[in-house]
Amino acid sequence: MSSVNPLLNADLHCHSTVSDGTLAPEALAARAKANGVELWALTDHDELGGQQRALAAARAQGLPYLTGVEISVTFAGITVHIVGLGMDPDDQALLDGLRATRGGREQRAREMADGLAQVGIPDAFDGALRYVGNPDLISRSHFARHLVDTGVCKDIPEVFRRYLSEGKPGFVPHRWAALGDAVGWITGAGGIAIVAHPGRYKFTPTEEYALFTEFKQHGGRAVEVVTGAHSQAEYAKYAGFCAEFGLAASRGSDFHSPDESHTDLGQLPDLPGSVTPVWTLLEERVR
Ligand code: AMP
Ligand code: MN
Ligand code: MN
Ligand code: MN
Repeated sequence: MSSVNPLLNADLHCHSTVSDGTLAPEALAARAKANGVELWALTDHDELGGQQRALAAARAQGLPYLTGVEISVTFAGITVHIVGLGMDPDDQALLDGLRATRGGREQRAREMADGLAQVGIPDAFDGALRYVGNPDLISRSHFARHLVDTGVCKDIPEVFRRYLSEGKPGFVPHRWAALGDAVGWITGAGGIAIVAHPGRYKFTPTEEYALFTEFKQHGGRAVEVVTGAHSQAEYAKYAGFCAEFGLAASRGSDFHSPDESHTDLGQLPDLPGSVTPVWTLLEERVR
């Protein structure tokens, strides 16, 4: 099926063991293919280390592939995720920017463990590390798995609610990349920058408007409309943003794990008919 087909089963957002997913890139490629995905991208957090394996596995499955990443950004004091698709994975400025963005994670994780120790949960740093596939990319998800498996909480959402969200004992404020830098690294490497799961951010309407206005000014070109984290109402809301801000629309499950993710690879509704699917702008970048 041609990649300009607006009804393509594209899944352009998921995570492997190279960041905070639990499946290897090869297992994700096989799962995507088995689930009927027709265009795939692996979008690990702040990291391109899984891209070669994902591309090779996609080729072996006969699955069209786009280079992908999900960059952590701080905007108005809130963490925002920017997905990049179709970049040159060897672009030096992109690689340098991602390395800098990953840089503070180990220190942050040690401070998270200190906060947890103060409420009676010892040794969480070493505990979380047991779940980490890439030592450069220790994340809150790894702490969450450790706290579930040691019986501190019954499931991952409970860990985030009680320990890892803003104001809770294991939360450490962190300054990620600047919005303009992240968009610039992606577009400079020939890719398209996309606001990931906008429905998840706790912005006021004014702040959200500022995010999209500045994103567009920096050269951002798309927004995730259909994602595992959005409701039907949010599909409609962000399809409206596509028209208002002149953005294309993306579609991705944000799949992390068979045991944890509500939305599996390729199991999403189609984009609303009014929008321009981002993959129609990326035809030449499909590999
Ligand atoms: P970090 O980049 O270390 O701040 O970790 C962020 C990751 O934690 C996200 O990409 C999600 O995979 C996960 N996460 C964040 N909030 C939640 C939540 N409420 N429930 C489950 N997972 C979450
Ligand atoms: Mn994640
Ligand atoms: Mn995200
Ligand atoms: Mn994600």
